[in-house]
Amino acid sequence: MLVVQKYGGTSVGNVEKIKNVAKRVSSNLRNGDKVVVVVSAMGGETDKLVGYAGEISKTPPKREMDVLLSSGERVTSSLLAMALESMGHEAISLTGRQAGIKTNNVHTTARIESIDTQVLKKNLNENKVIIVAGFQGITENNEVSTLGRGGSDLSAVAIAGAINADVCEIYTDVDGIYTTDPRIEPKARKLEKISYDEMLEFASMGAKVLQNRSVELAKKMNVKLVTRSSFNNNEGTLIVKEEEIMEEALVSGIALDKNQARVTLIGISDKPGIAAQIFERLSEENLNVDMIIQNVGIYGEANLSFTIAQNELEHAKRIMDELHPAKNIEFDDSIVKVSVIGVGMKSHSGVASSAFSALAKDGINIQMISTSEIKVSMVIEAKYGELAVRTLHKVYNLQD
Ligand code: ASP
Ligand code: MG
Repeated sequence: MLVVQKYGGTSVGNVEKIKNVAKRVSSNLRNGDKVVVVVSAMGGETDKLVGYAGEISKTPPKREMDVLLSSGERVTSSLLAMALESMGHEAISLTGRQAGIKTNNVHTTARIESIDTQVLKKNLNENKVIIVAGFQGITENNEVSTLGRGGSDLSAVAIAGAINADVCEIYTDVDGIYTTDPRIEPKARKLEKISYDEMLEFASMGAKVLQNRSVELAKKMNVKLVTRSSFNNNEGTLIVKEEEIMEEALVSGIALDKNQARVTLIGISDKPGIAAQIFERLSEENLNVDMIIQNVGIYGEANLSFTIAQNELEHAKRIMDELHPAKNIEFDDSIVKVSVIGVGMKSHSGVASSAFSALAKDGINIQMISTSEIKVSMVIEAKYGELAVRTLHKVYNLQD
């Protein structure tokens, strides 16, 4: 098998852990697999480097940030190559540039444009194990670029796609994707398989196992993903095309997003252009709006609510002060969003209504609702968030 393995910051957090990773890679090699490993920086290293830059300048040049930040991954790639060499394997570490990863020119949040696989293929043909420094590439002007925080996942998926790997394994310190956060519901169960779209929903709800862009790319390139722990031998969660999941569960999991705030505009004038004005302004300021609800206007006035990330609430307040779009404006940051996720609901009715009645039985008021083909999301008071998760987990029979 041709395998791409990506090890995150906690998996390569110190020299002992790097040696442990080398052992895992070694066992693949002994099984006859060809392996490309992609590594993150040691856990906390990238933050430390960002901190150093911050001590020198409030606005360090982005080009220099990229040179700085890309170094963390180089450290781990060379150390892992040494560890594998010392175990008798022929190993070679490659920077993003050496691995042929070409990006656009946007420093610190570059996008991968293409991968020149020559060097990767040459080394694989020579039976070497390759260790690629994740999170980085090279621009057309030969400048080092980085892919945005969490970007080594993206490096791994892009490489797996480019060399047509059989699987891309993402190693972290958790066993896989669970039906919900086990710290909230101890009966949460690890999922064997989910679809890319479900994974995207889980990830955007704070299941920070995989970077969202990497899941999107895996879907686009049809890369089979596995997320698993580097600290045990448990099987992880397989993330594949929906068609490959034979037995679809109605609901795969419940997600809780605590990073939510609500803005409610009471008494906006009910005429064309008002919503456009508000949301254009928010998007100009790069504020990401999640849910939007507007009711039917009465007597020429309507009410409109929307949600944004909690840490952007102050920013939204400033914009609302400036725009004055309504008679009254309410801001509430003690809300959470609970979501029921599952591809199975595409072909079944009643999923939403059973969520509503379950929350009603617990006396939980639903402030906002939004639905998609594979998701029902509800905004509720923050203090009921965990209770709602446990209730819904039970309603859809997700427990062990
Ligand atoms: N080291 C980078 C970060 O901390 C990239 C990564 O770990 O994926 O964001
Ligand atoms: Mg990561």
